[in-house]
Amino acid sequence: MTEAAPDTIPCRLCTRLVARDAAVCPSCGVKEPWIPDEPTINPRVIRLAMWTGGVVLGGLLLFLAGVLMFMPAEGERDHRPPGAAAEHHESR
Ligand SMILES: [Zn+2]
Repeated sequence: MTEAAPDTIPCRLCTRLVARDAAVCPSCGVKEPWIPDEPTINPRVIRLAMWTGGVVLGGLLLFLAGVLMFMPAEGERDHRPPGAAAEHHESR
């Protein structure tokens, strides 16, 4: 009683056993249902991508921080004059 033939592997999408040489999963229809043993992406490329992502994210955060720092300053200056609001709050 064999559970699966040696040339069948579970599909990466539906985990159903499909033939290793099958180009398309007969169950869910995904192309290349098998997961290749060799990594398609080098660790070097992953590290580079992570670095690039970090730099981009840092730049974006800096840009956002700059925008947030400049935006409320203008709005507050327009709304109420500095001094009047403080005096009103302190007087009693
Ligand atoms: Zn499948």
